[in-house]
Amino acid sequence: MKVRVGVLALQGDFLEHVQALRELFNLDVVLVKCSSHLRDLDALIIPGGESTTIGRLIKFKGLDEGITDFVKGGMPVMGTCAGAILLASKVVDRVVGEVNQPILKLMNITVIRNIFGRQKDSFITKVYVEGIGDVNAVFIRAPGIIDARDPAKIISYLNHPVVGRVGIVAVQGPLLAVTFHPEVTSERKLYEYFLSMVKN
Ligand code: GLN
Repeated sequence: MKVRVGVLALQGDFLEHVQALRELFNLDVVLVKCSSHLRDLDALIIPGGESTTIGRLIKFKGLDEGITDFVKGGMPVMGTCAGAILLASKVVDRVVGEVNQPILKLMNITVIRNIFGRQKDSFITKVYVEGIGDVNAVFIRAPGIIDARDPAKIISYLNHPVVGRVGIVAVQGPLLAVTFHPEVTSERKLYEYFLSMVKN
């Protein structure tokens, strides 16, 4: 049976993930718009976009319970950029401080939204990720991971000229928070790392 990967398709650049997965691997890709779409999936990706909007839509559609149950069942979930914010247990905004936006609180990490600044401060660079190697990383109004508590672990840091050393990838069992956009550059190694978490 082919591996079935769902991509949360409420807002953001979910189609880029779908395209990258189809171009790189021979697997089934499913657009997830409600909890019933999580049935029979082997893994889920929460894309980048606007985390407040995606979080509200997740709640509106009752997908918060669906995704939480999916994770309780030991299924792998990768959140990229806004998706990483949604996986975090605590979110702070660089400008306005603590924000009360709906998040899933599935990983023991704290993130700062827009840590590198506004759109004009977006950038592309090569980063090293433990267990993966060098990866091309596109940061678009990206968050930073400033804290990871056991069992979460930061596996990649970026030395930013203004912000300093910031966590950019964290892992907690089969959960992966990536603050950049692997779908934009079709980063095979990063997807492979995530897909290796799929149960045999
Ligand atoms: N800055 C956005 C947020 O806080 C995330 C941006 C992105 O996903 N590219 O939701």
